[in-house]
Amino acid sequence: MVEVPAQRTSEPHVVRPMVNRDSRFFWDGTAAGELRIQKCNACGARRFPPGPACQSCDAFDRGYDVASGTGTVFSYVVHRHPPVPGKELPIVIALIDLDEGVRMVGEVVDVADHEIEIGMRLQVDYRRVDEDLTLPVWRRAL
Ligand SMILES: [Zn+2]
Repeated sequence: MVEVPAQRTSEPHVVRPMVNRDSRFFWDGTAAGELRIQKCNACGARRFPPGPACQSCDAFDRGYDVASGTGTVFSYVVHRHPPVPGKELPIVIALIDLDEGVRMVGEVVDVADHEIEIGMRLQVDYRRVDEDLTLPVWRRAL
């Protein structure tokens, strides 16, 4: 069953992720300041995005690792149009290769659109929206 999050009045323009039993651990992690990567308890394979079954061994026994929170830009887009409710454009969206070996998409918040480049090192940070949602965002690694 998929839980559809209720619209909040605190920050009504935030696009809220769909949270279900496969991804709950990830969002519990961001709320706790952890970037969690799903891991198969049977064979140890990591995967992102989270899902019910391991793509390596088909096991349903899933756990997670806490990532170091650093990664490298694999690719990126600079979104200039159309407008995004609640966002000041442009926004930089990157595909980030985590040091732990999985790739995830994320918003880069402190790198200008003309400065972002493939291979740049990034560090995760967390933006608390409200009591139910903390979003991971990415900054230039120090
Ligand atoms: Zn497995």
